[in-house]
Amino acid sequence: MVDLKTQYEFIKDEVDSSVLDIFKNGTFINGPSVKKFQSDLENYLNVKHVIPCANGTDALQIALMSLDLQPGDEIITSDFTFAATVEVIALLRLKPVLVDIEEETFNINCDEIQKAITPKTKAIIPVHLFGQVANMDRVMDIAKTNNLFVIEDNAQGIGSTYFSSNNTKHKSGTIGDLGTTSFFPSKNLGCYGDGGAIFTNNDDLAHTIRGIVNHGMYVRYHHDVVGVNSRLDSVQAAILSVKLPLLDFYNERRKEASLLYSNELNQNKNLLTPIVKNDCQSHVFHQYTLRVLSGNRDQLSKFLNDNNIPHGIYYPIPLHKQKAYTDINYNEENFKISNMMSEQVISLPMHSELDNDQIKFICNKVKEFFKAQEN
Ligand SMILES: *Cc1c(COP(=O)(O)O)cnc(C)c1O
Repeated sequence: MVDLKTQYEFIKDEVDSSVLDIFKNGTFINGPSVKKFQSDLENYLNVKHVIPCANGTDALQIALMSLDLQPGDEIITSDFTFAATVEVIALLRLKPVLVDIEEETFNINCDEIQKAITPKTKAIIPVHLFGQVANMDRVMDIAKTNNLFVIEDNAQGIGSTYFSSNNTKHKSGTIGDLGTTSFFPSKNLGCYGDGGAIFTNNDDLAHTIRGIVNHGMYVRYHHDVVGVNSRLDSVQAAILSVKLPLLDFYNERRKEASLLYSNELNQNKNLLTPIVKNDCQSHVFHQYTLRVLSGNRDQLSKFLNDNNIPHGIYYPIPLHKQKAYTDINYNEENFKISNMMSEQVISLPMHSELDNDQIKFICNKVKEFFKAQEN
């Protein structure tokens, strides 16, 4: 699905020397490279505060911890996302309220957010799934009207630009009160291990979070709040500072790959290629996800397996059906789209090193499968 080896070959010299510097200096934790990456990312995102942490799941958990919520407070999020988003809500004894998605974008459906709001609702977590920004104008509007916090789960969307209806533009993850991301190796901006970060323009939240990530300490050995230990290590930060200047180039390459895929596949009546809303800038194609309309997604998956073509099914089971997150009050009628998507979606290899021949080869195999089905 990704080709991190080829990507490394292109940046090897810079990565190697920046990592060796840290080995020589012995500044493995909280070294100067962490401060540097933090400020590099603040500049890139045009956001006041970036707080690095250990991974994208921690970033979500810490974001929620900073909001002074009470057990049982309700957090609305998408039924169709990676489990981390809902896991941290449940872990903090908050109540996840899962809602259905939009058919076109796989992102949270704002009409459903509206319906799910109760007096106990405290926050909304939109997820910029597969790299396309959720409808943030609507999300922010609903949040403002109902006095709710917004945490953007930007693990899949880093680098995308959201164009608001009022003609302003912002990097994804910097629109809500808080944004989070993951630097897992296969994400659009990946390190060589685990990493994550929280973004905010709110000085108070930034201060609170800087304490939470460091055992709740604001003054050394004074633990004012219950915190965690969640750090981005110096080696990962140094690698990320090498890769950050290439993020726009990497995302551009992903977009080009997506156009080529869609050009090859959008005439196939069995398939629906991804729909890019508004400006193409709002989609950074963390995944290239097709919908199989002919009911044989699993056979296609098997065929691709037999032909050694990597692919993924994100996500095969919507969260409301997962044993850990199901709730007797959920009604299947309310999850029509996420249920349908879990049966239709299939993601093809997507990364910045894909070349045209590889894409054509993959598409020809996909076409071959549907041809054989017709005969
Ligand atoms: C990857 C991912 C996460 C978690 O990131 P980790 O760094 O693996 O903890 C959270 N949310 C979404 C949508 C993701 O894709």
